[in-house]
Amino acid sequence: MTTTLITNIGSLVTNDPAHGDTPLGLVENAAVVIEGDRIAWVGPQEKAPAADAVHDAQGRAVIPGFVDSHSHLVFAGDRTQEFNARMSGRSYTAGGIRTTVAATRAATDEELEANLVHHLDEALRQGTTTFETKSGYGLTVEDEARALRIAARHTDEVTYLGAHIVSPDYADDPAAYVALVTGEMLDACAPHARWVDVFCEKGAFDGDQARAILTAGKAKGLLPRVHANQLGYGPGVQLAVELEAASADHCTHLTDEDVDALANSSTVATLLPGAEFSTRAQWPDARRLLDAGVTVALSTDCNPGSSFTSSVPFCIALAVRDMGMTPDEAMWAATAGGAQALRREDVGRLAPGAYADLALLDAPSHVHLAYRPGVPLVSAVWRRGVRAA
Ligand SMILES: [Zn+2]
Repeated sequence: MTTTLITNIGSLVTNDPAHGDTPLGLVENAAVVIEGDRIAWVGPQEKAPAADAVHDAQGRAVIPGFVDSHSHLVFAGDRTQEFNARMSGRSYTAGGIRTTVAATRAATDEELEANLVHHLDEALRQGTTTFETKSGYGLTVEDEARALRIAARHTDEVTYLGAHIVSPDYADDPAAYVALVTGEMLDACAPHARWVDVFCEKGAFDGDQARAILTAGKAKGLLPRVHANQLGYGPGVQLAVELEAASADHCTHLTDEDVDALANSSTVATLLPGAEFSTRAQWPDARRLLDAGVTVALSTDCNPGSSFTSSVPFCIALAVRDMGMTPDEAMWAATAGGAQALRREDVGRLAPGAYADLALLDAPSHVHLAYRPGVPLVSAVWRRGVRAA
């Protein structure tokens, strides 16, 4: 197997507690050896073993590739006018999703896949090497199943979100839609997905409906994750903990009981500040969660309605500037945190045996991701050991 040595790394984030005293496992003047698609060695550059090829990082920083654990990338059309109107003073409600549902249903498979690939390439160039994505803009048996089939060609982290909103076709009979989502639609979708998700929110699905949907998904072998407490207080976070979901996503409006429940669980709180940015909403309080001992992940929520950014560095900058996270905490949350939210140990860290997914920054330190917001600092990306951007 071919080996590649990346050396002269000024600052290396490993997320491996074997290095240094902080969760980031920082190594200065470091080197990494890639063998095939995996990391084979990490340590000080003067001790690095020889390799077939050498890449000189010229004193710059190297970080694990970002793990974007929450996106909605199988869609068609855009919502420029909705965003424009909202920035002129209207507030966001879940209803805007219907616009994308109509466009997605009307699109061909080829159009949906080309749009997905376009956004994945965009994310890769910004350092994202693992991503999760969801259905949720089809809301019919066939349209949901095809979204998942298309997504599964590009990632292992595929989520069935037939319960994004009640399909407009069932506006007068939400119970019948829940029956579809937990019945025929689930049967068609489960073979193509790893996860089941539900938008548990006023205007979408209440606690009882969400429990029924997640429980039915679990019975079909899918693992639960939940859109919880984004727009207001509600039962989503408690339900996520009760059902041992890998992640409760958004977590913007939390009671003390919600924070306690997360802190005493294995459920990760995935914060999605692109959504609050793009809807001018209240930020999630990352500091409160971290101080309570909750595991926090940061992700883009990339979707054409409420958070049309594929940039994890942008989310890191928001989290540091407005959500009380330190640059180190935000770095960890966007890599190791995302991996934990997907229950993965082979990504989000640079340690022997993990996938060789890493990004070279045009900066001496990962802190620059927040210090230099909006600047395209990711200058090279390796994914599965191959130079990908
Ligand atoms: Zn979402």
